[in-house]
Amino acid sequence: MSIAENIQSIRSRMAAAAEKAGRDPRDILLVGASKMNDAAACRAAIAAGIDALGENRVQEMTAKLAENAYDGAPLHFIGHLQRNKVRQVVGRAALIHSVGSLELLEEIDRRAAKLELVQDVLLEVNIGGEESKSGFAPEELYAAADRARAFSSVRVRGLMTIPPVERTPHGNLPFFARVSELYVDIGRNLYDNTFVYLSMGMSDDFEDAIAAGATMVRVGSAIFGQRHYQ
Ligand SMILES: *Cc1c(COP(=O)(O)O)cnc(C)c1O
Repeated sequence: MSIAENIQSIRSRMAAAAEKAGRDPRDILLVGASKMNDAAACRAAIAAGIDALGENRVQEMTAKLAENAYDGAPLHFIGHLQRNKVRQVVGRAALIHSVGSLELLEEIDRRAAKLELVQDVLLEVNIGGEESKSGFAPEELYAAADRARAFSSVRVRGLMTIPPVERTPHGNLPFFARVSELYVDIGRNLYDNTFVYLSMGMSDDFEDAIAAGATMVRVGSAIFGQRHYQ
């Protein structure tokens, strides 16, 4: 199957999941997680109408930017971001999905202010409480989202989560549902109608994420094929 065929098939599964949940399929964006795939693969996904491409690693993103890999689609940063790499991402990524601490948010704000731009970000929620993952704990998220409003050069557009590795079919549904509740609560009480992105769901579980309210799914291997780690 080609990248274009894979995207078409994911789009129809997304639409079916949306309709089953009584939602409009047009409200859900498909972000291609293009890590470890080259510029040609990125271009093929853009030609097939992907809504955005998401990169995980700053070095890889920078190299592919130099090859114009993302021309024609918004570039998102979806991986763990270290504070000392912030300057390489701010102003280049249209949306940073993975802001998991106020210190990181502050650094992004400082850099964006220097560039005289406003950086769109999502707050990452560590919904499984896993030590290996970054992100705000669910119980600290509301207060963090409240404090984030004070930064003038970042704009929080929503939430992102990566739940624990699924062990049983639909095992992540309760995590998705919980993040969806936090998203609705924070959007209603703290933000205006620019708080619109709920980024959750990957190749194996994007339909469940859509059932729970995702407005953005991040799909890698189901579009680009299995990644081969060295
Ligand atoms: C790689 C990655 C994805 C996509 O994972 P697949 O299982 O290949 O669909 C989604 N989100 C993040 C943050 C990723 O790193």
